[in-house]
Amino acid sequence: MRAIWAYWGYLAAAALIVAWGRGAATGVILVLSLAVFAYAAFQTPVWCGAVNRGGGTYCRRNASGILMGCSLRQHRWQKIKLIVLRSKAGDVSRALFPTAKEKFGAFIALGGLASAAAAAVLPVFTG
Ligand SMILES: [Zn+2]
Repeated sequence: MRAIWAYWGYLAAAALIVAWGRGAATGVILVLSLAVFAYAAFQTPVWCGAVNRGGGTYCRRNASGILMGCSLRQHRWQKIKLIVLRSKAGDVSRALFPTAKEKFGAFIALGGLASAAAAAVLPVFTG
């Protein structure tokens, strides 16, 4: 069961797509969108991806969420700094999205954000 719970965000993403398809209420879409984003950013199981001391290799410990690092505090700070400063774009994408799984997590996060923004903005134009 733990394996299923670790991926609840993907179920939320599927529910979100269905909600959009059926024209669900804005509030429902907004809540689902934010849940999907929060899941991808803070809970989806991914690699840490921080640069190891000395450089050249990337941390392969488990982390929760594409914005979070592993249990090493230094790695968490490193990821936050990478995201905030965006000093080297290549390093950021390699650190955050080393594998297809991480890229998919990022895609889900962006999708959730875009969906939340669309749900918030659309009624202004249509209603
Ligand atoms: Zn790490």
